[in-house]
Amino acid sequence: NARDILKNELREVLAKGAASLADGTQPDPIVKRPDFGSLEVYYQTIHRAENGYRASGAEALVRWRHSQRGLLTPASFIPVAEEGGLIDALGFWVLREACTAARNWPENSFVAVNVSPSQLRRPNFAEEVFTVLQETGLAPSRLELELTESSLIEDNSDVYTVLKSLRGRGVQISLDDFGTGYSCLSHLMRFDIDRIKIDRSFVSLLGTKANGAAIIGAIVALSRNLGISTTAEGVETEYQRDFLTALGCTDLQGYYFSRPAPLRELDCFRQPEDAT
Ligand code: C2E
Ligand code: CA
Ligand code: CA
Ligand code: CA
Repeated sequence: NARDILKNELREVLAKGAASLADGTQPDPIVKRPDFGSLEVYYQTIHRAENGYRASGAEALVRWRHSQRGLLTPASFIPVAEEGGLIDALGFWVLREACTAARNWPENSFVAVNVSPSQLRRPNFAEEVFTVLQETGLAPSRLELELTESSLIEDNSDVYTVLKSLRGRGVQISLDDFGTGYSCLSHLMRFDIDRIKIDRSFVSLLGTKANGAAIIGAIVALSRNLGISTTAEGVETEYQRDFLTALGCTDLQGYYFSRPAPLRELDCFRQPEDAT
């Protein structure tokens, strides 16, 4: 079926990438950066409200330029990658790409990278991340890892240790799609999160249903009291931007500001020397 075909194709892309490592040592898709050809990382800027909405960082979002099907968004292949045991290799490749890219951005900017539950369950996950940071030379505080709450509900003490070790070195941790799944306040207490990303589904309620504002207001107030930053996702209009700012969201992300775009089109982080 179509899903299996896609899975095999993705496996092939990843295998080819791993084999393309030219340094003669054992191909290691996790710590080396293979050329995955048809895979590409897009970036969507994230804007700080108190700074006149200047871009403060960007989120890495993977794309697959498929030879027959065109540009595929992650919804069509991340689940396939997770099912096929390919997500760890894919995820580490995205991490490495993102850290390499962010090294050339302004010094106080950050890059956010999505992490699948299966990656987080790797006992050596923190060390693998530190290796990537070391090899790319990116300061740990400039990397933000976006986890979903499903990564945390297993109440796995290994995950706790991994996150503690990452935060100990200054890596930022954010909780993605907050409010959609098993939102649980005890996660916020136990895991010492740096940031919450408020899901687009709440943002899109603003101006249509009164509960949108009430829910976002409550999340922001709680976060503030805990010293946690809040990014609103899926901001599409000026009205939403102003409403979210008034509610106290610290950062905003969405089509209103920018669509995900290839690195070469990320004008706001371009350094003078690569403006060719
Ligand atoms: P996400 O982490 O919630 O990422 C935000 C998604 O919302 C992106 O979809 C982005 O393009 C889209 N978006 C941003 N602003 C707006 C807006 O104003 N309006 C609307 N309608 N949509 C907006 P995308 O790129 O298709 O990614 C979908 C999901 O795939 C992501 O959701 C994330 O969970 C997952 N994903 C993407 N890249 C990776 C990756 O490298 N690893 C893993 N594990 N998951 C990834
Ligand atoms: Ca995300
Ligand atoms: Ca999200
Ligand atoms: Ca979302």
